[in-house]
Amino acid sequence: MADGFDTASEPVARRVTSGLAKIGAVLKSWAWKAAGPEGVTPTQAQALGHLYQRPASLGALAAQLGVSAATASNAVGTLVRKGLVVKEPGVNKRSVTLRLTEAGESMANRAGEWPDVLSRAVETLDPEEQTAMLLSLVKLIRMLQQNGAISPQRMCVTCRYFQPRVHQDPERPHHCAYLDEPFGDRLLRLDCPEQVDAPPEQQELAWQSFTSSGAA
Ligand code: SF4
Repeated sequence: MADGFDTASEPVARRVTSGLAKIGAVLKSWAWKAAGPEGVTPTQAQALGHLYQRPASLGALAAQLGVSAATASNAVGTLVRKGLVVKEPGVNKRSVTLRLTEAGESMANRAGEWPDVLSRAVETLDPEEQTAMLLSLVKLIRMLQQNGAISPQRMCVTCRYFQPRVHQDPERPHHCAYLDEPFGDRLLRLDCPEQVDAPPEQQELAWQSFTSSGAA
């Protein structure tokens, strides 16, 4: 028979969701604190952070930010007027690549410091806990992606180069065909510049193989 503590508690899924929402609120708060003094909005600060990692088209930037093309366009327009971003010809005639100016790189460095507070908290977990959390995040992000709640992310588990559980080494059972190297769960990437989406059937087969030993 369930005791009082059990029946008085919310389901664990709801408490986990509540915990994630609290972490989201912390990030939002830090984004405002970091962006405000620089005279940019959190969305603009995030755009600077993404472009600091690599130049991108407007569509790719909107997908990374998880916002509409119109919202991304507004943010980029402001950053261009402030002299923080320049538009350069893209790979074809009609496309444009967004790139940070020197001033944009300098601001991205400062505005991009806000996630450090979360990194420091995550680093207090032991390595096994960090890997378990990474696996849970991979599973959650993949599900959100499949439901259309977030744009496709450049994760190993959806990559055409990902070959799960092809090696005997329990520390490094997976293989990246792009880098031609074995790797373990703790090196799974959520945002890999070399990622290319695998066809849906390949993704499904890889996921079944990846989760076959209780990895996620
Ligand atoms: S190319 Fe990148 S995303 Fe793809 S399997 Fe290799 S490390 Fe993972």
